[in-house]
Amino acid sequence: MGKLFRYIIDQVAAQAETGICHYCDQARTVYPIRAVADDADYWDKGTEQIDELCAHCIRVIPLISLATRESERWLTAHINSHYPKGTLSKELRQTKLIGLADRLRRTPEMPLFLQGDDWPFCCGEWCEFLGVPDNGQAAIALVDTDTYWSGGPGTYASEFGDMTLEPEDLEEVSLFRCLHCHQPFFTWQFT
Ligand SMILES: [Zn+2]
Ligand SMILES: [Zn+2]
Repeated sequence: MGKLFRYIIDQVAAQAETGICHYCDQARTVYPIRAVADDADYWDKGTEQIDELCAHCIRVIPLISLATRESERWLTAHINSHYPKGTLSKELRQTKLIGLADRLRRTPEMPLFLQGDDWPFCCGEWCEFLGVPDNGQAAIALVDTDTYWSGGPGTYASEFGDMTLEPEDLEEVSLFRCLHCHQPFFTWQFT
């Protein structure tokens, strides 16, 4: 669990560079995250968006100013599979939903999701992003050790058959780990 961002380990968060925060206009370490300055209607109107914020602003910016994450479209299903019917009241289920959406929206968009934001989820929570494989051999070995993720836990073979995991760029592969059971996951998205 990262100290700066719950779902990004600190070594990866530390790779962010200094820039001007689009929200507070200060020179700070900035992280990629889509938001709007203060116009909550932006997402309907299409005014200019901001996409580099400092860690402080990411924490304090109103939730409504942060872009919805594509991963949220699976959130209800993720929650329902972790908390089967009858195990959580409607109100608590709703609270979980909002809390988890809030936490993900306040997480920088650092994994390179070329086919869309698809953040792994396990044990009732989003997983932590660990970075990319060290090298090609490490990528190939993932198939045997980590769970492939695409909108949910799946099997690599069902999507890719016996194709070797050989990304053109290691950035296409994102490694994650459950904060609770430590199950490792990976996504592979390419253009
Ligand atoms: Zn800022
Ligand atoms: Zn887990």
